[in-house]
Parts: sequence; C-alpha cells; structure tokens
Amino acid sequence: MNDPQLSLEHKRHTLAHLLCAAVLELYPDAKPTIGPAIDNGFYYDFEFAADKRPAEGDLKDIEKKMRKILPSWKEMTGKEVNEKEARDAFAGNPYKLELIGEIAAKKEKLTLYTAGKFTDLCRGGHSENPAKDIAADSFKLSRLAGAYWRGDEKNTMLTRIYGLAFETKDELAAYETMLKEAAERDHKKLGRELDLFTFSDLVGSGLPLWTPNGTLVRNLLDDYVWSMRRAAGYVKVEIPHITKKELYEKSGHWDKFKDELFKITTREGHIFAMKPMNCPHHTQIFARKKWSYREMPQRYANTTTCYRDEQTGELSGLSRVRAFAQDDAHVFCRESQVKEEFLKIWDIVHAFYGTFGFKLRVRLSLHDPKHPEKYLGDESRWKKAEDTLREIADEKKADYFEGAGEAAFYGPKLDFMAHDSLGREWQVATIQLDMNMPERFDLSCTSETGTDERIVMIHAAIMGSIERFMSILIEHTGGNFPLWLAPVQVKVIPVMETHNDAARKVHEALRAAAIRSELDESNAGFGKKVRAAKNMRIPYFIIIGDKDIAAGKVTLESRDKGQIGQLDLKEISARFEQEIRARE
Ligand SMILES: [Zn+2]
Ligand SMILES: [Zn+2]
Repeated sequence: MNDPQLSLEHKRHTLAHLLCAAVLELYPDAKPTIGPAIDNGFYYDFEFAADKRPAEGDLKDIEKKMRKILPSWKEMTGKEVNEKEARDAFAGNPYKLELIGEIAAKKEKLTLYTAGKFTDLCRGGHSENPAKDIAADSFKLSRLAGAYWRGDEKNTMLTRIYGLAFETKDELAAYETMLKEAAERDHKKLGRELDLFTFSDLVGSGLPLWTPNGTLVRNLLDDYVWSMRRAAGYVKVEIPHITKKELYEKSGHWDKFKDELFKITTREGHIFAMKPMNCPHHTQIFARKKWSYREMPQRYANTTTCYRDEQTGELSGLSRVRAFAQDDAHVFCRESQVKEEFLKIWDIVHAFYGTFGFKLRVRLSLHDPKHPEKYLGDESRWKKAEDTLREIADEKKADYFEGAGEAAFYGPKLDFMAHDSLGREWQVATIQLDMNMPERFDLSCTSETGTDERIVMIHAAIMGSIERFMSILIEHTGGNFPLWLAPVQVKVIPVMETHNDAARKVHEALRAAAIRSELDESNAGFGKKVRAAKNMRIPYFIIIGDKDIAAGKVTLESRDKGQIGQLDLKEISARFEQEIRARE
C-alpha cells in the first residue's frame, strides 16, 4: 500500500469490522447494521435489546475484546455470493437484509468478507494483514451516541459506537490532546464566558443575538475588510431583506433553494421571501442603467443579513444558523477584467487571514470536463476562465491544488482553506466567477465598438458568514483577541480601595485617548480582580498601588507577555496605539 491516506482509511474500515466482531462476542443478540471509516476513525451502528445496551463504561471492555481478537486476524478474504447465500448468512437481521435487497436490486455484486471467525457484508477496502498492519495501541473507542437507521427519525434508534484510529499511538495521543484543547476553546462555551453572543428560546434557535462585546468585534472585523475594499475601488450599496418571489424565479434560486427559503405571504396574497443571498438584489442595482465600458467594473460591497430555513437538528452554535451576516461584495466586470479583479480580492483575502496568523491553501475549483452537461456555457469559455485562475495562483506563488468537479455550475472558483492554531482546516473565503446570473438578468455594457457586451459577475465575500468566521476566530485564538479587536483592551485595577481615585483618573485618561478601558472598582480582593481580568482574556491590565502613585506611574501587565513594568500614561498610550495600528 503506497498511499498513506488510503492505507489509514483501510485500517479504520477494518477496525469497524473488528468492533463489530468484539460487540457480537460480548452481546450475541446485538444486530449490526453499518460501520464505515470516518475522518478520525470509525463507527458502527447496532440495535441492542433495550436491557442489554452498553453504557460508556462498557467501552473499555469492548476495546479489550477487540485487542484480544486482533492477533487472530491475519488476513481478510472476500467471497462473492448470490442473494440467497447472503440472506442466509444474515437471517434474523432486518438491517442487513434490507441492504442485501437493495444491492441485489441494483444488480451489484454481493460480497462477504471474513477475518478470523467473523464475517460481514462489505464492498471491500481493508488492511491486508490486520494483525500486522494495525498497532493495538493506535486506536480506542471514544463514545456512544444514538443514531436513527439510515438517518431517518421515523426509523429505529440505533446505538452508535465511535472509535478513534491513527497510524501510531503518538498520533492518536496528539489528536486527543487537540480534541481536549478544542473543547476548551469551543466557541459556544467561550461566547458565553466572554459575553459575545447569546440565544433566546423566545427568539428561536439558530438566531444568534449579539451582545455589546460581540457587536463591537463584528463591527471592527467588518470595518477592517471595508478599509481594504474601499482602497480597491468598492462602493457600498444597501438592499431590503425581502423580495418578490419573481426575483428568485428569474435567478434560478426559487427552484434550487425552495426548501431553504423563508417565505412570506402578504395580506394581498403575494409571495415574498427573506433573502438567502444578496446577488440577485445586487444585479438589479447594476441593471438600473446602461453602462459604458469606460465605467466598468462596478464593485458593490454590502454587509447584510441573510436567512435560511435550516433544519433544527442541523443547527450548531454560530457554525450553522438561520440568520447570518455576510460581508458580501459583487464585482460586475468585463471578461477581460476578471484577472485584475480576482487579484485584488486575492490580496484582501491574504491580508485579512494573515492578520490572524491563519495559513492559507487554495483550491482551484474547476469543472469536470467529462460532464459538460452539468455546467453552463461552452467549453472554450470555461477553459479561458480556468486558465485565468491558474495564472493568478501561479503568479501569486500560492500553495494550491486543483479540484476537478468542484466548480459551481455557473463558473469556476478559488476556495481558500485556513489552517487554524489547532491544525484544523476550515474552508473560509471563496472568489467565484459567475457567467450565469449576468445571462439570466441580461446584464451588459456598451463596448468600444458601440455593441452590447455580456458582462460577468464575481462573488467576493471575505469572511463569508460573519457568524461562522467568528466561530473559527474564537476557537483559533482561544478568545485571546488581539488588542485592536478585544472588546475591552485594558482593565485598570486598584490594589486597594484607597487607590480607587487614582485608578479612576487613569481610566478616564485612557477613555479620552479612545482606548477601551474598564475600571474594576469592586471591593473584591486584588488577586480576585486580576483573575477576573485574566478570565475575560483582556490583553492588558494596569495596576495602581502606593508605589505607582508615589512614582507618578502605573504598572502595566500583558496577557501574552506578562509583567512589562512601570510606565507613565503617555508611554502606555503610544504603545497601545502602535500595537492597534499594526493589528498585532
Ligand atoms: Zn469491510
Ligand atoms: Zn453572490
């Protein structure tokens, strides 16, 4: 096996079988269903008798049993069988029989795989010699969960057993450390502790409410993106959050997004929808007049909320919500201007994510030439557009790879993946070329020869959904926002109550210098006040005691660098200003 990724996937798949074998030895009445390899390991779903269901505490025993069986699995051999043989092998297990029926109906091959004394229905893809290929300490069972058969809540609730599996014990340990750290940094937990956002049962799930702290952070992020857009020639536009159904019929979204749209029937019986995206509205701003080639491109920026009717079960913190703000932008340009416009957006994306220390990787999402029927527009137009994207990535010497078949049906795109501080990868910004919407809305400009020229559109959100970006940023930083972004930048802490007056003067001077300062006048003890400031991840605190007052200075301490020393207020302001300007 040369491909390490594939070998790991085979190993995880094999471990799913091993889990099943161990469960059947310990729980002979259990009915196994399916058990695939997943990103970090594997799982297997079982139906257990109600009084014989394993608890979390039983996972250790199952794991032990797996290790006991493993040395006897020297190979996994497959055998093709007919439907009757397959049915006989799984008589009494309605789940496997359902799968067998489906495979047979599709006239696909039915194969059984055997290792040691254990046989399962399977397509194949295993470790060749599990006993040799799988280190006994490179996997562990991690948790139990409920899962409906085939993910449908009308079906029986099964018990899912999850396992983690990596190449080595060390890789497994590193992954577990990362998981623990990720749980510490969970944005839902930190969002509450740092008082950034909240949810209300009365308002509804998936509808985040932003507190003063959270709103401040959002606005600072948005202002930062806007400052770069303005420099690149963008202008702001504004749109209502609802529209007549007809707009989406014309754009094609009514058909495609029907189920995800929040629909409204007016008292006059007209159907409106809450906007799930902004592009169709923006086309109508562009379409308000006839443009000359001299006036192209038109670049519209608009940070605004979109709404999607996500299913309740899919909602999660800020990662998946029903209302989210997009820092959206659309460029209406000539085909000859695509490269220049993409380059400008590229620079903004890199500057923005670089500020937070995200490492970016780029995917050129291209069309699949084997399925031209899936895409709009002819082959030559696609080739030209895709060559342009490739040129851009080459010119920028980017770390990029190509994803055939990853394009949208209306055009190729550049997808940016960000590596966070825990080594996880998130898809963040995307720059999309759109040859479809200008066609549907008949958008054009007058060319040098006086004829109508079809234009193209570029979708260019930098953060994408601000909610989702905030969830990534909170976890990436662990809530330790840089000074420019921290809701409270400095906490002024008097050592004792007798220092309160002096502390208040310092606090007011900082406020006057536009520093977001907070004063702790509580009668809590000094240590407790310092801990509270640390828990809120405030970047700096200023301590004022007798020695400071005598010296006419204050003591500055940094969240990240520790004790800095005695400084006067002027020095502190200058230091903060410099750090804020540099967005360090
Ligand atoms: Zn298998
Ligand atoms: Zn768009």
